[in-house]
Formats: sequence, C-alpha cells, structure tokens
Amino acid sequence: MNAELIAVGTEILLGEITNTNGSYLARELSRIGVDSYFQQVVGDNPQRLDAAITTAEQRSDMIIVMGGLGPTPDDLSKQTLAAHLGLKLVTDAAHLAKLHELAKRREHALTPNNLAQAQLPEGATPLTNHNGLAVGAMLKQGAHTYVLLPGPPREFVKMVDTELLPLLAGQEHQLLISRTLRYFGLGESGLVDAIKDIIAQQTNPTVAPYIKDYEVTLRLTGRGDNEAVITKQLDALQDKINAVLGKYYYATGADVTLASVVVHELVRQGQSVSAAESLTAGLFQATIGGVPGVSDVFNGGFVTYSAGAKAKLLGIAPELIAKHGVVSEETALAMAKGTRQRMQSDYAVSFTGVAGPDELEGHPAGTVWIGLSGPAGDQAQLFHLGGSRNEVRIRSVKHGLMMLLR
Ligand code: ATP
Ligand code: MG
Repeated sequence: MNAELIAVGTEILLGEITNTNGSYLARELSRIGVDSYFQQVVGDNPQRLDAAITTAEQRSDMIIVMGGLGPTPDDLSKQTLAAHLGLKLVTDAAHLAKLHELAKRREHALTPNNLAQAQLPEGATPLTNHNGLAVGAMLKQGAHTYVLLPGPPREFVKMVDTELLPLLAGQEHQLLISRTLRYFGLGESGLVDAIKDIIAQQTNPTVAPYIKDYEVTLRLTGRGDNEAVITKQLDALQDKINAVLGKYYYATGADVTLASVVVHELVRQGQSVSAAESLTAGLFQATIGGVPGVSDVFNGGFVTYSAGAKAKLLGIAPELIAKHGVVSEETALAMAKGTRQRMQSDYAVSFTGVAGPDELEGHPAGTVWIGLSGPAGDQAQLFHLGGSRNEVRIRSVKHGLMMLLR
C-alpha cells in the first residue's frame, strides 16, 4: 500500500507555517512499511483541493487530507471530499454526544458550526480526536482509502498515533507496538551518533530518534502478529541501546518529563529536596514547581546570585569564595551543604557557573559546577555546556535533575 499526503492551508503555501504534520506522518508511515511517493500542499480552496484529490487518485492507494476540519468557513476538507465522492455528510452520534457533554461542562451552547465538527462522509469510520473537537475519518471507496485529519499538531499527532496507525497496521493484519525511551546528557547529536549503527541496522523493530528540549527521545516500534514476541524484541532492542546509552537514560514514556520523573522518585522514597541557585536564578525550583505533587518533597530554597547573597543566605565564608572563586567546586559544595543544613532537607542541589555571554573569573560561558548534598555524602560535577545564556541555564537544570536521579 502507498499513501499520498495532502496538506491543506493557505498559510503553508505562503510559507507562514511549516508542514510539520506532513513530516511527522511521512516518517510514521515509513516506519510501518507504508510507502509514499508524492505529497501535495494546497490552499484553503475547495476547487483546488478537489483537483489535488483527483491527481492523487491517479497515482496513490491512500489519500490523506491534513487540516481544514475546524468550524470556520475556510475549513472545507470534509465537505470537499464528500462532494468529490458523491457522498452525504452524516452526524457521528458518539462524537455529537461528546460535543454536547463538553459544552455542558464549559457552560456554553453549541453553535451550528460546532455541530458540523461531528459530521463525516457517510460510511466513514470515525477517528477519535482526543485533543480537540473535530472528528477525523477513514473511508474506503473502490480501490482507494481516504483519510481526514485535523490541522492543529497536538490533535494531529495524537490522532495519527492512537487512531490511524493502529488501524493501518490492523489492515495489514499486524500489531504495532511503540515504546518511547527518554535520554538526557552528552549533547543531543552525540547521543544519536552513539547509536547510529543500531538505528541504521534496525528494520523491525525500528528506532526513530527525535531531539526536543535538549533531550533525545527514541521511539521504538515493533510490528508483527504476536504481542509477546514484539514485546520481547522491543526489550532486546532497548537492552542493546542502553548498553551504549544507559548512563543517559532516565525513563520510558512519551508524556513524562525529567522533572516529573525526579519528583515522583523522591515521593516514592519519601525524601525531600531543596536548592541554591546562582546562574539558574530559580529555574530549577520553578521547573520542579511545575510538577503536580511537588509539595510533598520540596520545601524551598534560595536564589543566591551574588557572592554577598551566598554569604548572607547560606553562610558561605567570603574567604572561601575569595580563595576558590564563585565558579568552583568548593563554592558549589558549600552552597549545597549550606542549603541542606538550613532547609533540613534530604537532598540539596546547587548551581554556580557562567551563563554567558561574557566569561567570568577567566572561565568561558557554559562553565558550570553543580553540587549535590545528600544522605550518601557530598559531590560536585563540572560541566562545559553549549548554547546561549538561556540554553546554558536550562541544560544546567536538567543536569542537576539527572544528578538527583542517580
Ligand atoms: P481548527 O479547528 O484549528 O481550524 P483545522 O483542522 O481546520 O483546525 P487548519 O485550520 O487547517 O486545521 O489548521 C489549524 C492550525 O493548525 C493552523 O493555523 C496551523 O497552525 C496548524 N497546522 C495546520 N496544518 C498544519 C501542518 N500541515 N503542519 C503543521 N501545522 C499545521
Ligand atoms: Mg481551521
């Protein structure tokens, strides 16, 4: 089977947004063995979309229309496909009930435009939209399969993952099982590079790396007809990858964050954490503060930007800083120990370094010492981080979280 993707949206044609949905779906289709020879981009115009569908029918088995399912007058994908195929639009009862329930909860009435979002070409299989209001659709007619997907990436990706791909795999009488492995450290390209041979050799399961938020995510996908066999293959592949990257692995799961993993681990162990932050100026604490349930493990901490603040708030002797410098192992350790003592926490993390762009005390931007004081003793690690001022600060926070996790 081969598929042709049609992205609908004048803003894509004009180069105002990038067709990231198309890239995502193309990659996912290739991973499950669906070929793709052509892609099209067309504006919000029914005649031209109709022509694009006609063109696609002459050379492709499956035609996937992306975008234009919304409630506004320029959203015409569903109507255009139905008219193209000579089909009526009918209301999907289950989806309509969902819209009514949502409206009740949010206490506003459904407009006729909203109601249209529950409509499908007759005979189509609905694709549930877990992140939005417009239902998707899949439809077989003659030699062709037609698919309608929503434009907003959050809705699109979820529908592709949870609805479309399993259905396509099912048509080929295959099970499709994915697993998302999460890594941080070493530099993103370095991580991917370290396993490039494994990635290149793998055909089933496949390995797809994504780089986002200074982290690397590896999506392993196995195909077959037996769940236990696929799971075993995924386990084996995960072991093979983690033999190389295990040091940087922190969790499995698409929705977790490094901060949430750390907080949940502390909750599980019944241990508390506090922090003293110089270059990160509160970013570590703000980051763990974003995780629900953090109040069970986080009692507070310090932002000690200047040497004076380090002395005043943490009791660090000015002589220590004068002798070793602010950016030093000694200062990082003193900050962590002082914080742990003052906050009476099980763990304390400290950050001191050069966010940049200018150097400090002769250290280049990106030089960062992170201290950790805990029940097993005190340690400090030196990092040389790349990137802009804010990238250095974000990476510092993530390294601090990794140190806590180890
Ligand atoms: P809505 O209910 O938001 O109107 P829709 O299904 O009608 O959704 P569009 O109106 O085509 O979709 O697009 C909505 C938004 O989704 C666009 O403004 C754009 O930001 C994003 N989007 C649409 N198509 C793509 C694409 N191919 N790649 C990335 N983003 C896209
Ligand atoms: Mg729209």
